[in-house]
Amino acid sequence: MTGSNAVAYAEEHAAHNYHPLPVVIAEAEGSWVTDVDGRRYLDLLAGYSALNFGHRHPALVAAATDQLGRLTLTSRAFHHDRFGEFCQKLARLAGKDAVLPMNTGAEAVETAIKVARKWGYRVKGVPDGEARIVTCGGNFHGRTVSIISFSTDEEARADFGPYTPGFVVVPFGDLEAAVKEIADPRTVAILVEPIQGEAGVIVPPAGYLAGIREACTRHNVLMLADEVQSGLGRTGATFACDHEDVVPDMYVLGKALGGGILPVSAVVADWPVLGVIKPGEHGSTFGGNALACAVGTAVVDLLATGDFQRRATELGAHLHESLAKLPSEAVVAVRGRGLWAGVEFAESVGTGRQVCERLAERGVLAKDTHGSTIRLAPPIVITADEIDWAVEQIRAVVS
Ligand SMILES: *Cc1c(COP(=O)(O)O)cnc(C)c1O
Repeated sequence: MTGSNAVAYAEEHAAHNYHPLPVVIAEAEGSWVTDVDGRRYLDLLAGYSALNFGHRHPALVAAATDQLGRLTLTSRAFHHDRFGEFCQKLARLAGKDAVLPMNTGAEAVETAIKVARKWGYRVKGVPDGEARIVTCGGNFHGRTVSIISFSTDEEARADFGPYTPGFVVVPFGDLEAAVKEIADPRTVAILVEPIQGEAGVIVPPAGYLAGIREACTRHNVLMLADEVQSGLGRTGATFACDHEDVVPDMYVLGKALGGGILPVSAVVADWPVLGVIKPGEHGSTFGGNALACAVGTAVVDLLATGDFQRRATELGAHLHESLAKLPSEAVVAVRGRGLWAGVEFAESVGTGRQVCERLAERGVLAKDTHGSTIRLAPPIVITADEIDWAVEQIRAVVS
Protein backbone atom coordinates (compact mmCIF):
# COMPACT_ATOMS: atom_id res chain seq x y z
CA MET A 1 0.00 0.00 0.00
CA THR A 2 1.46 3.38 -0.98
CA GLY A 3 1.17 6.37 1.30
CA SER A 4 -1.20 8.23 -1.03
CA ASN A 5 -3.49 5.17 -1.35
CA ALA A 6 -3.60 4.77 2.41
CA VAL A 7 -4.63 8.40 2.88
CA ALA A 8 -7.18 8.26 0.04
CA TYR A 9 -8.84 5.11 1.41
CA ALA A 10 -9.06 6.65 4.86
CA GLU A 11 -10.56 9.86 3.44
CA GLU A 12 -13.15 7.88 1.52
CA HIS A 13 -14.05 5.18 4.02
CA ALA A 14 -13.27 6.43 7.52
CA ALA A 15 -15.28 8.96 9.50
CA HIS A 16 -13.52 12.32 9.53
CA ASN A 17 -13.28 12.55 13.31
CA TYR A 18 -9.53 13.25 13.15
CA HIS A 19 -7.36 15.42 10.92
CA PRO A 20 -4.03 13.54 10.91
CA LEU A 21 -0.78 14.94 9.56
CA PRO A 22 -0.06 13.45 6.11
CA VAL A 23 2.41 10.84 7.42
CA VAL A 24 1.67 7.13 6.93
CA ILE A 25 3.58 5.14 9.53
CA ALA A 26 4.44 1.53 8.85
CA GLU A 27 6.99 0.63 11.55
CA ALA A 28 8.36 1.95 14.80
CA GLU A 29 10.95 1.25 17.45
CA GLY A 30 11.80 3.21 20.58
CA SER A 31 11.46 6.93 19.84
CA TRP A 32 11.43 6.57 16.05
CA VAL A 33 8.79 5.72 13.48
CA THR A 34 9.27 4.89 9.77
CA ASP A 35 6.75 5.70 7.06
CA VAL A 36 5.72 3.56 4.09
CA ASP A 37 8.46 5.17 1.97
CA GLY A 38 11.19 4.48 4.50
CA ARG A 39 11.43 8.04 5.90
CA ARG A 40 12.18 8.19 9.63
CA TYR A 41 10.60 10.58 12.13
CA LEU A 42 11.34 11.27 15.77
CA ASP A 43 8.07 10.81 17.67
CA LEU A 44 7.52 13.72 20.08
CA LEU A 45 3.87 12.86 20.75
CA ALA A 46 4.22 9.26 21.90
CA GLY A 47 0.54 8.48 21.35
CA TYR A 48 -0.52 11.29 23.70
CA SER A 49 1.59 9.56 26.40
CA ALA A 50 0.30 6.06 25.65
CA LEU A 51 3.87 5.30 24.47
CA ASN A 52 5.77 6.51 27.54
CA PHE A 53 8.09 3.48 27.27
CA GLY A 54 8.62 3.98 23.55
CA HIS A 55 7.39 1.94 20.62
CA ARG A 56 7.61 -1.82 21.13
CA HIS A 57 9.59 -1.76 24.38
CA PRO A 58 11.28 -5.20 24.46
CA ALA A 59 9.98 -6.14 27.93
CA LEU A 60 6.42 -5.20 26.98
CA VAL A 61 6.52 -6.95 23.60
CA ALA A 62 7.92 -10.05 25.33
CA ALA A 63 5.13 -10.01 27.92
CA ALA A 64 2.49 -9.63 25.19
CA THR A 65 4.03 -12.26 22.91
CA ASP A 66 4.34 -14.78 25.72
CA GLN A 67 0.74 -14.18 26.76
CA LEU A 68 -0.54 -14.47 23.16
CA GLY A 69 0.81 -18.01 23.16
CA ARG A 70 -1.12 -18.97 26.30
CA LEU A 71 -4.39 -17.11 26.92
CA THR A 72 -5.91 -13.84 25.76
CA LEU A 73 -9.48 -13.51 27.07
CA THR A 74 -11.77 -15.33 29.45
CA SER A 75 -14.24 -12.56 30.33
CA ARG A 76 -14.66 -11.86 34.02
CA ALA A 77 -17.21 -14.68 34.26
CA PHE A 78 -14.18 -16.78 35.24
CA HIS A 79 -10.91 -16.09 37.01
CA HIS A 80 -7.68 -16.18 35.04
CA ASP A 81 -4.12 -16.50 36.25
CA ARG A 82 -2.93 -12.98 35.26
CA PHE A 83 -5.67 -10.93 36.89
CA GLY A 84 -4.81 -11.01 40.58
CA GLU A 85 -1.12 -10.27 40.09
CA PHE A 86 -1.86 -7.24 37.90
CA CYS A 87 -4.32 -5.78 40.39
CA GLN A 88 -2.04 -6.46 43.35
CA LYS A 89 0.98 -4.84 41.68
CA LEU A 90 -0.90 -1.81 40.36
CA ALA A 91 -2.56 -1.22 43.74
CA ARG A 92 0.85 -1.42 45.43
CA LEU A 93 2.42 1.01 42.92
CA ALA A 94 -0.36 3.49 43.70
CA GLY A 95 -0.30 2.86 47.45
CA LYS A 96 -3.99 1.90 47.38
CA ASP A 97 -6.04 -1.18 48.27
CA ALA A 98 -7.74 -2.13 45.04
CA VAL A 99 -8.17 -1.76 41.29
CA LEU A 100 -11.09 -1.83 38.86
CA PRO A 101 -9.69 -2.44 35.36
CA MET A 102 -11.37 -1.20 32.19
CA ASN A 103 -10.03 -0.56 28.67
CA THR A 104 -10.06 3.06 27.53
CA GLY A 105 -9.41 6.19 29.55
CA ALA A 106 -12.99 7.38 29.05
CA GLU A 107 -14.28 4.12 30.55
CA ALA A 108 -12.07 4.61 33.59
CA VAL A 109 -13.44 8.15 34.00
CA GLU A 110 -17.00 6.80 33.69
CA THR A 111 -16.08 4.25 36.35
CA ALA A 112 -14.79 6.99 38.64
CA ILE A 113 -18.05 8.93 38.19
CA LYS A 114 -20.19 5.87 38.97
CA VAL A 115 -18.14 4.91 42.03
CA ALA A 116 -18.22 8.50 43.32
CA ARG A 117 -21.99 8.81 42.87
CA LYS A 118 -22.71 5.50 44.59
CA TRP A 119 -20.26 6.39 47.39
CA GLY A 120 -22.08 9.70 47.73
CA TYR A 121 -25.47 8.03 48.21
CA ARG A 122 -24.41 5.03 50.29
CA VAL A 123 -21.56 6.44 52.39
CA LYS A 124 -21.88 10.23 52.46
CA GLY A 125 -25.69 10.18 52.56
CA VAL A 126 -26.49 12.56 49.70
CA PRO A 127 -30.24 12.41 48.86
CA ASP A 128 -31.02 10.10 45.93
CA GLY A 129 -30.44 11.68 42.51
CA GLU A 130 -28.81 14.86 43.86
CA ALA A 131 -25.10 13.97 43.70
CA ARG A 132 -22.91 16.66 42.14
CA ILE A 133 -19.39 16.28 40.78
CA VAL A 134 -17.13 19.33 40.43
CA THR A 135 -15.03 19.54 37.25
CA CYS A 136 -12.59 22.09 35.84
CA GLY A 137 -12.82 24.39 32.83
CA GLY A 138 -10.62 23.35 29.92
CA ASN A 139 -10.82 19.72 31.03
CA PHE A 140 -10.33 16.72 28.82
CA HIS A 141 -11.59 13.40 30.21
CA GLY A 142 -12.71 11.56 27.08
CA ARG A 143 -15.50 11.46 24.52
CA THR A 144 -18.56 9.73 26.01
CA VAL A 145 -21.84 11.60 26.34
CA SER A 146 -21.54 11.98 30.13
CA ILE A 147 -17.95 13.20 29.88
CA ILE A 148 -18.57 15.75 27.12
CA SER A 149 -21.51 17.00 29.19
CA PHE A 150 -18.99 18.84 31.39
CA SER A 151 -16.54 19.75 28.63
CA THR A 152 -16.02 23.47 28.01
CA ASP A 153 -14.76 22.81 24.49
CA GLU A 154 -17.59 23.63 22.07
CA GLU A 155 -16.11 21.37 19.37
CA ALA A 156 -16.28 18.41 21.74
CA ARG A 157 -19.77 19.23 23.01
CA ALA A 158 -21.99 21.06 20.51
CA ASP A 159 -24.83 19.05 18.93
CA PHE A 160 -24.29 16.03 21.19
CA GLY A 161 -26.91 16.90 23.82
CA PRO A 162 -29.07 16.36 25.76
CA TYR A 163 -26.33 16.39 28.33
CA THR A 164 -25.91 14.36 31.51
CA PRO A 165 -26.79 16.47 34.57
CA GLY A 166 -24.97 16.42 37.90
CA PHE A 167 -21.75 18.27 37.04
CA VAL A 168 -20.55 21.76 37.84
CA VAL A 169 -17.57 23.45 36.20
CA VAL A 170 -15.15 25.80 37.97
CA PRO A 171 -12.12 27.54 36.43
CA PHE A 172 -8.99 25.34 36.51
CA GLY A 173 -6.39 26.65 38.94
CA ASP A 174 -8.89 28.75 40.93
CA LEU A 175 -8.73 27.17 44.38
CA GLU A 176 -11.32 29.43 45.94
CA ALA A 177 -13.93 28.54 43.29
CA ALA A 178 -13.21 24.83 43.72
CA VAL A 179 -13.43 24.96 47.52
CA LYS A 180 -16.75 26.80 47.36
CA GLU A 181 -18.29 23.98 45.27
CA ILE A 182 -16.59 21.23 47.29
CA ALA A 183 -18.29 22.64 50.38
CA ASP A 184 -21.78 22.10 48.90
CA PRO A 185 -23.33 19.21 50.87
CA ARG A 186 -24.50 17.52 47.64
CA THR A 187 -20.96 17.41 46.21
CA VAL A 188 -19.60 13.86 46.16
CA ALA A 189 -16.34 14.41 44.24
CA ILE A 190 -14.08 16.70 42.30
CA LEU A 191 -12.60 15.33 39.08
CA VAL A 192 -9.34 17.05 38.17
CA GLU A 193 -6.35 16.58 35.88
CA PRO A 194 -3.25 17.44 37.98
CA ILE A 195 -1.85 18.96 34.78
CA GLN A 196 -4.22 19.62 31.87
CA GLY A 197 -2.76 17.91 28.80
CA GLU A 198 -5.24 18.51 26.01
CA ALA A 199 -5.73 22.13 27.11
CA GLY A 200 -2.06 22.78 26.27
CA VAL A 201 -0.08 21.28 29.18
CA ILE A 202 -1.39 23.70 31.80
CA VAL A 203 0.25 23.38 35.23
CA PRO A 204 -1.95 24.75 38.05
CA PRO A 205 -0.53 27.21 40.62
CA ALA A 206 1.57 25.68 43.42
CA GLY A 207 -0.68 24.64 46.29
CA TYR A 208 -3.76 24.13 44.10
CA LEU A 209 -3.87 20.34 44.35
CA ALA A 210 -2.94 20.39 48.02
CA GLY A 211 -5.71 22.91 48.66
CA ILE A 212 -8.24 20.71 46.87
CA ARG A 213 -7.03 17.71 48.88
CA GLU A 214 -7.47 19.60 52.12
CA ALA A 215 -10.97 20.84 51.22
CA CYS A 216 -12.04 17.35 50.12
CA THR A 217 -10.93 15.87 53.43
CA ARG A 218 -12.66 18.64 55.39
CA HIS A 219 -15.98 18.31 53.54
CA ASN A 220 -16.01 14.53 53.02
CA VAL A 221 -15.69 14.76 49.24
CA LEU A 222 -13.68 12.39 47.01
CA MET A 223 -10.69 13.75 45.10
CA LEU A 224 -10.57 11.93 41.74
CA ALA A 225 -7.25 12.55 39.96
CA ASP A 226 -7.42 11.89 36.22
CA GLU A 227 -3.81 10.82 35.64
CA VAL A 228 -4.58 9.13 32.31
CA GLN A 229 -2.09 11.43 30.56
CA SER A 230 -0.07 12.95 33.43
CA GLY A 231 0.60 9.68 35.25
CA LEU A 232 2.95 6.72 34.92
CA GLY A 233 6.26 8.52 34.61
CA ARG A 234 5.51 11.40 32.25
CA THR A 235 6.17 14.25 34.69
CA GLY A 236 9.17 12.65 36.41
CA ALA A 237 7.09 10.97 39.11
CA THR A 238 4.77 7.98 39.12
CA PHE A 239 1.85 10.40 39.44
CA ALA A 240 1.75 14.15 38.81
CA CYS A 241 0.03 14.49 42.23
CA ASP A 242 3.30 13.27 43.81
CA HIS A 243 4.94 16.64 43.06
CA GLU A 244 2.64 18.27 45.62
CA ASP A 245 2.71 15.29 47.99
CA VAL A 246 -0.99 14.93 47.33
CA VAL A 247 -2.71 11.55 47.57
CA PRO A 248 -6.12 11.62 45.88
CA ASP A 249 -8.91 9.23 46.88
CA MET A 250 -8.80 7.71 43.43
CA TYR A 251 -6.32 7.57 40.56
CA VAL A 252 -7.82 7.31 37.08
CA LEU A 253 -5.28 5.65 34.79
CA GLY A 254 -5.06 4.68 31.13
CA LYS A 255 -2.88 5.41 28.11
CA ALA A 256 0.64 4.26 29.17
CA LEU A 257 -0.88 1.51 31.34
CA GLY A 258 -1.32 -0.45 28.10
CA GLY A 259 2.35 0.00 27.17
CA GLY A 260 1.41 1.35 23.74
CA ILE A 261 0.24 -2.15 22.82
CA LEU A 262 -3.42 -2.29 23.74
CA PRO A 263 -5.94 -0.21 25.66
CA VAL A 264 -5.70 -0.79 29.41
CA SER A 265 -7.26 1.55 31.95
CA ALA A 266 -8.18 1.35 35.61
CA VAL A 267 -9.29 3.22 38.66
CA VAL A 268 -7.30 2.63 41.84
CA ALA A 269 -8.67 3.44 45.31
CA ASP A 270 -9.03 2.16 48.85
CA TRP A 271 -11.78 -0.27 49.89
CA PRO A 272 -13.98 2.30 51.67
CA VAL A 273 -14.41 3.89 48.21
CA LEU A 274 -14.11 1.09 45.65
CA GLY A 275 -15.92 -1.36 47.93
CA VAL A 276 -19.27 0.27 47.13
CA ILE A 277 -19.33 -1.57 43.77
CA LYS A 278 -20.95 -5.01 44.01
CA PRO A 279 -21.27 -7.85 41.44
CA GLY A 280 -23.45 -6.90 38.48
CA GLU A 281 -23.20 -3.15 39.00
CA HIS A 282 -20.34 -2.32 36.65
CA GLY A 283 -17.97 -4.03 34.25
CA SER A 284 -16.66 -4.60 30.76
CA THR A 285 -16.25 -7.72 28.62
CA PHE A 286 -12.62 -6.90 27.88
CA GLY A 287 -11.73 -5.12 31.12
CA GLY A 288 -8.97 -6.99 32.93
CA ASN A 289 -8.43 -9.51 30.11
CA ALA A 290 -5.38 -11.76 30.30
CA LEU A 291 -3.43 -10.02 27.55
CA ALA A 292 -4.12 -6.61 29.06
CA CYS A 293 -3.09 -7.85 32.51
CA ALA A 294 0.14 -9.38 31.17
CA VAL A 295 1.12 -6.09 29.49
CA GLY A 296 -0.14 -3.98 32.40
CA THR A 297 1.88 -6.04 34.86
CA ALA A 298 5.01 -5.55 32.76
CA VAL A 299 4.30 -1.79 32.68
CA VAL A 300 3.98 -1.69 36.47
CA ASP A 301 7.23 -3.68 36.77
CA LEU A 302 9.02 -1.07 34.62
CA LEU A 303 7.65 1.76 36.76
CA ALA A 304 8.45 -0.01 40.03
CA THR A 305 12.19 0.38 39.33
CA GLY A 306 11.85 4.19 39.32
CA ASP A 307 14.18 4.37 36.29
CA PHE A 308 11.61 5.94 33.97
CA GLN A 309 10.57 8.52 36.55
CA ARG A 310 14.26 9.50 37.06
CA ARG A 311 14.87 9.59 33.33
CA ALA A 312 11.80 11.79 32.74
CA THR A 313 13.05 14.18 35.45
CA GLU A 314 16.55 14.48 33.96
CA LEU A 315 15.54 14.59 30.30
CA GLY A 316 12.63 16.85 31.17
CA ALA A 317 15.01 19.39 32.71
CA HIS A 318 17.13 19.14 29.55
CA LEU A 319 14.07 19.60 27.29
CA HIS A 320 12.85 22.66 29.20
CA GLU A 321 16.34 24.22 29.23
CA SER A 322 16.63 23.76 25.46
CA LEU A 323 13.12 25.12 24.80
CA ALA A 324 13.86 28.17 26.96
CA LYS A 325 16.61 29.10 24.47
CA LEU A 326 14.25 29.32 21.51
CA PRO A 327 13.97 32.87 20.12
CA SER A 328 11.72 34.91 22.40
CA GLU A 329 10.04 36.70 19.49
CA ALA A 330 8.74 33.30 18.27
CA VAL A 331 7.78 31.72 21.59
CA VAL A 332 5.12 33.22 23.84
CA ALA A 333 5.26 30.59 26.58
CA VAL A 334 6.67 27.18 27.46
CA ARG A 335 4.73 25.23 30.08
CA GLY A 336 4.96 21.78 31.53
CA ARG A 337 6.69 19.46 33.92
CA GLY A 338 9.08 16.58 33.40
CA LEU A 339 9.26 15.28 29.85
CA TRP A 340 6.11 17.13 28.88
CA ALA A 341 5.83 20.60 27.38
CA GLY A 342 3.26 22.88 25.79
CA VAL A 343 4.97 25.42 23.56
CA GLU A 344 2.90 28.44 22.58
CA PHE A 345 4.13 30.35 19.54
CA ALA A 346 3.58 33.95 18.50
CA GLU A 347 0.81 34.34 15.93
CA SER A 348 3.37 35.49 13.36
CA VAL A 349 4.91 32.01 13.46
CA GLY A 350 1.66 30.44 12.22
CA THR A 351 -0.85 28.02 13.67
CA GLY A 352 0.21 25.03 15.73
CA ARG A 353 -0.92 22.88 12.83
CA GLN A 354 1.40 24.71 10.43
CA VAL A 355 4.31 24.35 12.83
CA CYS A 356 3.62 20.60 13.07
CA GLU A 357 3.46 20.27 9.27
CA ARG A 358 6.82 22.02 8.92
CA LEU A 359 8.28 19.84 11.67
CA ALA A 360 7.06 16.68 9.93
CA GLU A 361 8.90 17.77 6.76
CA ARG A 362 12.06 17.87 8.91
CA GLY A 363 11.44 14.46 10.45
CA VAL A 364 9.84 15.44 13.77
CA LEU A 365 6.29 14.45 14.76
CA ALA A 366 4.41 16.67 17.20
CA LYS A 367 0.76 17.63 17.68
CA ASP A 368 -0.92 20.99 17.98
CA THR A 369 -3.48 21.53 20.70
CA HIS A 370 -5.37 24.80 20.68
CA GLY A 371 -4.46 27.69 18.39
CA SER A 372 -0.73 28.20 18.18
CA THR A 373 0.31 25.72 20.89
CA ILE A 374 2.07 22.43 20.22
CA ARG A 375 2.43 19.63 22.71
CA LEU A 376 5.66 17.70 23.23
CA ALA A 377 5.54 14.40 25.08
CA PRO A 378 8.42 12.29 23.75
CA PRO A 379 8.85 8.65 24.71
CA ILE A 380 10.84 8.52 27.95
CA VAL A 381 13.42 6.34 26.16
CA ILE A 382 14.45 9.36 24.04
CA THR A 383 18.07 10.52 24.45
CA ALA A 384 19.41 14.00 25.28
CA ASP A 385 21.02 14.19 21.82
CA GLU A 386 17.70 13.41 20.16
CA ILE A 387 16.04 16.16 22.21
CA ASP A 388 18.74 18.62 21.10
CA TRP A 389 18.20 17.65 17.48
CA ALA A 390 14.42 18.00 17.80
CA VAL A 391 14.68 21.45 19.39
CA GLU A 392 17.01 22.50 16.54
CA GLN A 393 14.28 21.50 14.08
CA ILE A 394 11.76 23.54 16.06
CA ARG A 395 14.14 26.50 15.97
CA ALA A 396 14.49 26.12 12.20
CA VAL A 397 10.74 26.11 11.52
CA VAL A 398 9.88 29.06 13.77
CA SER A 399 12.80 31.36 12.94
C1 LIG B 1 -6.77 10.66 26.76
C2 LIG B 1 -7.41 11.06 28.04
C3 LIG B 1 -8.62 10.47 28.47
C4 LIG B 1 -9.41 9.53 27.61
O1 LIG B 1 -8.73 8.36 27.26
P1 LIG B 1 -9.23 7.50 26.01
O2 LIG B 1 -8.41 6.25 26.10
O3 LIG B 1 -8.94 8.29 24.78
O4 LIG B 1 -10.68 7.26 26.20
C5 LIG B 1 -9.09 10.82 29.70
N1 LIG B 1 -8.45 11.70 30.48
C6 LIG B 1 -7.30 12.30 30.10
C7 LIG B 1 -6.62 13.25 31.02
C8 LIG B 1 -6.74 12.01 28.85
O5 LIG B 1 -5.63 12.62 28.46
